[in-house]
Amino acid sequence: MMKFATALIKWFEQSKRDLPWRKTNDPYRIWISEVMLQQTQVATVIPYYHRFLEKFPDVRSLASAPQGDLMKAWEGLGYYARARNLQHAAKEIVSKYGGTLPRTQEALRTLKGFGPYTSASVASIAFGADAAAVDGNVIRVIARLRAIKEDVRLQPTKDAVQQIAGELLPHGKAGAFNEAMMELGATVCTPKRPNCDGCPVSEHCIAYQTNQVEKFPVKSKLAVAPHYHIAVGVVWREDHVLIALRQAEGLLGNLWEFPGGKVKAGETLATCCRREVEEETGLKVMVQAEFIAVKHAYTHFKITLHAFRCEYVSGEAAPKQSQEIRWVKPDELLHFAFPKANRRVIDAILNPSSQVIHPATLSLFETEQ
Ligand code: SF4
Repeated sequence: MMKFATALIKWFEQSKRDLPWRKTNDPYRIWISEVMLQQTQVATVIPYYHRFLEKFPDVRSLASAPQGDLMKAWEGLGYYARARNLQHAAKEIVSKYGGTLPRTQEALRTLKGFGPYTSASVASIAFGADAAAVDGNVIRVIARLRAIKEDVRLQPTKDAVQQIAGELLPHGKAGAFNEAMMELGATVCTPKRPNCDGCPVSEHCIAYQTNQVEKFPVKSKLAVAPHYHIAVGVVWREDHVLIALRQAEGLLGNLWEFPGGKVKAGETLATCCRREVEEETGLKVMVQAEFIAVKHAYTHFKITLHAFRCEYVSGEAAPKQSQEIRWVKPDELLHFAFPKANRRVIDAILNPSSQVIHPATLSLFETEQ
């Protein structure tokens, strides 16, 4: 399949997009870009990539970064475990490898957050190792190239795709090949309406040659994601509001939030808000008006977040279910890292004129993990 790889790499060299991480050989920068690009679009990643590297220009600065600064730099990018894993791996790289990334896929694989994809992409792009990097784009391209009839969501199919990618890989050119495959998937062999007429490998593509591109990749239907209603309290005590730092592990770990939680069966939103605030902080509050509702999608579920203004009544705030709680002035909220849906609540706090429940906000889902 050398012809395939040659045609693909030639096309890539001529038409690749001008992206900041393609202008560096620094393994650290390549690693950061590869992690940011997982689950996130290029246009979103670019400003984060620049800001992150300005703040944390090398492995050591990332390893020693205060947790709040790290989460703030990642705020809004989603999939926050990525940031925590980056720092964990940076610390291991400092302690075990003197601050320099190890060069082999096997050694990279032992670091936190380095799965099969990240270890292969960094090893091949930064160090020239012969390792095939298979992401969602590559799975789609190979499913079409080989007209794979099995469901690409199943692990045996993914394993088969990995095997094929390894067979297609040209020795000594894995970095360019991997980047080219991903670029092809992102710009030509797109999920909808692939540009087969402009494809550099169409003569090798079984789906195209047999005129059945639209049948691939084969994907089973996903179960409908559950939808939860969440009530949160913005608790005021004089001119301060209460925020809580989520536990380090799990969804949205190490991000700040307003106390609240899922509505239980038979409970009103306001009752839920009062109960959750008391369970999480020990405070008794008077729940007042709901001032914004935000719809938000995570990978496996959706929420509508209902934010209520609450007045402090009694008690001393304590972090009963969080790492820490703080009373802060509203303009200080901008210094802390919050999940996206909470960010919309903060906008409504800082711009009281927007404190209405717009039908538009109710019909829109943003995606984050
Ligand atoms: S010919 Fe079409 S379906 Fe086949 S790899 Fe190229 S863009 Fe994808």
